[in-house]
Amino acid sequence: MTATTDQVRAAQAEARKLTTTALGIPVKPAPGPAPAMDEFLDRFKELERCPHLAARPIQPWMLVLPWQTWRCQPCLREWAQKEARTWTGFGAVEEATCDRCRQYVEAGRLTPAMLRSDLWIIQCSLCKRCEREMGTKTAAPR
Ligand SMILES: [Zn+2]
Ligand SMILES: [Zn+2]
Repeated sequence: MTATTDQVRAAQAEARKLTTTALGIPVKPAPGPAPAMDEFLDRFKELERCPHLAARPIQPWMLVLPWQTWRCQPCLREWAQKEARTWTGFGAVEEATCDRCRQYVEAGRLTPAMLRSDLWIIQCSLCKRCEREMGTKTAAPR
């Protein structure tokens, strides 16, 4: 797989833009590396991926925890629309389980977060402790 620097830069810019538009809030570039993302990527890098990411890795990769599949943008959009029609929820336990430490917390106490590093974008729900430990900028639930 060879990619030009331009392709990589374009994909990085696209990934940055996606986090902004998805959350509807301005996303400031994090100061320095994000250890939280390194940890997540170590854990989730080998998950299943859509055929488009396998064929063309230089584009934004999107993972919505606790689902276990990396998707490209069109696949994520299609999947999210389908889910929105048929979604009945995870059930009370998963809805209140932190995606990082897998601890059950009081219902309604998780914070939705979107983490990005380079081309990888992960959407997850974090308990207060993980949120603090990961030092993430998170969006308040609407
Ligand atoms: Zn795809
Ligand atoms: Zn946690």
